[in-house]
Amino acid sequence: MYRSRSYRRLSRVTPSKRHTIHYARRKNSFPHCAICKAELNGISISKTAKGKSLKSNSRKFGGVLCSSCTGEVIKLASRIENGEMKINSIGIRQKQYVLQMIAH
Ligand SMILES: [Zn+2]
Repeated sequence: MYRSRSYRRLSRVTPSKRHTIHYARRKNSFPHCAICKAELNGISISKTAKGKSLKSNSRKFGGVLCSSCTGEVIKLASRIENGEMKINSIGIRQKQYVLQMIAH
């Protein structure tokens, strides 16, 4: 199991002056927005976090998109539903989320 690089190697000196390697799990990385790659707010990366509200947002696309990208997707979806825009004029990253909004 220590061949895996998900463990950090920490060289330590024991009280008897022996040099040994200790292994520690790396920290989880922060979740990022699927469109703009910004770090998502309001989500704990702690492994001891208990409860649904600590792990995700209750917003639409919570835990997937950041708040500003979610707002943009909702705006584009309503423009397409009203016929003011066409689906082909949307960026490729936003497209799948706009299609999900329209399907609901
Ligand atoms: Zn974003």
